[in-house]
Order: sequence, then C-alpha cells, then structure tokens
Amino acid sequence: MRLSGLFILSSFIFTMVLGGSCFAEEICKKAVTKVKTDKPMVALTFDDGPCGQTQALLDLFKKEGVKATFFVKGKNAAGWAEMSKKIVDAGHELGNHSYTHANLTKLDEEGVRKEIEQTQKEIKEKVGVELKVFRAPFLAFNDTVWKVLAENKLPAINCSADTRDWDKATTVEQIVERATSKTEGGTVILMHGWSKNTLQALPEIIKKLKEKGLQFVTVSELLASGKEEEKK
Ligand SMILES: [Zn+2]
Repeated sequence: MRLSGLFILSSFIFTMVLGGSCFAEEICKKAVTKVKTDKPMVALTFDDGPCGQTQALLDLFKKEGVKATFFVKGKNAAGWAEMSKKIVDAGHELGNHSYTHANLTKLDEEGVRKEIEQTQKEIKEKVGVELKVFRAPFLAFNDTVWKVLAENKLPAINCSADTRDWDKATTVEQIVERATSKTEGGTVILMHGWSKNTLQALPEIIKKLKEKGLQFVTVSELLASGKEEEKK
C-alpha cells in the first residue's frame, strides 16, 4: 500500500512537472489548449462550417494575409465540397468537427466511429485532403471518444482563448477582447464561422494581433512549431 501510494504521488508530481504531457504509448485523454512555442504564431479557428458566411471570411483573410483553420462538420463539408476546396486552395486548414455535430459522449462506440471516420472518409473523397486535427462538438469527451481519436491518430484541439461567440449575449467588443487580450505565441482562438458578430469583430482582432507582432497560421502549423503542448 505504502509503495503504491508513493508511486501515485511520484506519478502525480511527474505529471505536474511535465505540464500535462502524455506518453506516446498510451491513449492521451487530453485536448490541446495551447502550444508552447518561441514563434510569434497564433491559430484562428472557426467551427461548424462551411456555411453562407465562409466566402466573406475567405475574402477578409486573403486581404489581410491571414491563415486559419476551419473545423467543419463532415455533412456540411461534403455538401459544400466546392467551398471546402476553396478553403484548402487558399492555404487554410480543414479540421474534423464530427459529421453531424452530435454530442459524441451520448453515442455508443459505433456511433462515435461513424461521426469521426465518415467525416475523414468523405472529405478525403470529395475535397481531396486528409484531416489531421479534430475538435469535439461542445468540447465533450469520454473514453470512447478518446479511443476512436487515438485509433485515427487525430489530436483533439480545444482552445486557450474562447470568444463564446455562439452566445447571443456576446457583443462584438467582447469577442475582440476575448480573442486578443491574453493572446500570445501559441494561443488557439475559438470562434464560429457562422457568427455575424465574429465577422464584424475580425478586422479589429486581426489588427490588434498584428500590432502584437503575431502571425496567423493553421493549427497543424502551430503544432509543428511547438516544443510541447499544453493540454487539459
Ligand atoms: Zn461546433
């Protein structure tokens, strides 16, 4: 008992020191919130698309020289395959945000597998890209979700700056504040591609982050630039 207690304590300390790292050989039940990097890079991420507002985002990003990541619903991306290709052709990244935006923790393993793998498969077929990152609808996870993600070698991406732009009570000013006030190299900013307030907030967000000397890269580029990831 005493030995196992010591083991648990030392594992705990070890985990604390490593700052939430996971060992390669075990299933990591944590999502990336931020990347530890020396580079002045940040990731703007947009969930739930593609949708009617996607073109306006692409036009803005082209004008501003910004790269972003779109965590798309498989069903939307397959239905809007031309728009999805435009996103990719403009140098942005597509990420997996499940097929129908189901709460995956409410599904059995077969259901979870279908949501994640059907998105991978259809986007590969219809858009021609292999998705390399995943964001869970409602940021909701359980052991089954972690298992299927591990089998598909998909890292889960949460965020370190949550604009909460899905909430109708959130103002344009609050979105700007939440996306910029604590943002530094390695920050992942969560927004929604359909939010009208976010579209309005973006020119100011981009301006403020450029003033901080930050560059806009895709989530995969941000992960590649980092030494380690902060996970939760
Ligand atoms: Zn979503």
